[in-house]
Amino acid sequence: MKQDNCIFCKIIAGEIPSQTLYEDNQFKVILDVGPATKGHALILPKEHYANLYELPEDTASDVFKLAKKMMAKMTEKLHCDGFNIVQNNGEVAGQTVFHFHMHLIPRYKNDGEILKYIAGSPSQEELAEIKKIITE
Ligand code: AMP
Ligand code: ZN
Repeated sequence: MKQDNCIFCKIIAGEIPSQTLYEDNQFKVILDVGPATKGHALILPKEHYANLYELPEDTASDVFKLAKKMMAKMTEKLHCDGFNIVQNNGEVAGQTVFHFHMHLIPRYKNDGEILKYIAGSPSQEELAEIKKIITE
């Protein structure tokens, strides 16, 4: 179902222009207008789901199948050296468009630091506490 005021629903409906790399009845893959690298693309399900929490399981698995196909094709055509697959959920996680999307970011040797986090150094005991919280 299309959601009013959703920029990606408008792109899917053809109301806002986009450069479409791939389309079928379930998905549209477009170039990101603010690319991190050459070829940065977004997989959009045509149905509106705000995030991965809302995405049906079947669609979630189909997104990854399509990501794999797109990666192969883009690697062949762009001659990139690797890929980051990024998917943000929630404002705190950096999500700015609240229509589920998966970023496909081609990586090239010496393209600089695009995604970086500072690794913590918890003890095994601290990790065990977290494991307990999640699994019990
Ligand atoms: P996120 O921060 O994960 O929600 O990513 C949203 C992405 O959508 C950003 O990388 C934006 O550059 C991209 N974006 C926003 N508007 C458009 C648009 N009209 N066409 C293509 N990409 C867009
Ligand atoms: Zn939408």
